Amino acid sequence: MPSANQGERMKIRCSEVRRELANYMEDDVDAELRSRIERHFRECDGCNALYDSIRKVIRLVGSEEIIELPAGFSRRLYERLATMPS
Ligand SMILES: [Zn+2]
Repeated sequence: MPSANQGERMKIRCSEVRRELANYMEDDVDAELRSRIERHFRECDGCNALYDSIRKVIRLVGSEEIIELPAGFSRRLYERLATMPS
């Protein structure tokens, strides 16, 4: 169903959230995208659960400092999780 109002235009799709999740968690997104993603988490159980499980995995891996993980590691992890069926 098409919608042309401004609120709809600002919305972000699940696929975009999942694609940007690694950047989001590494604080590598601009303020606008960050707030759109955070709004999406509040509206979307699937993405919120995904975000939650990634945070748990990161904690299990033993570091809250994602930056210290080997380059590419966290990104591959997010990508793998993002393609898992929810
Ligand atoms: Zn979503």
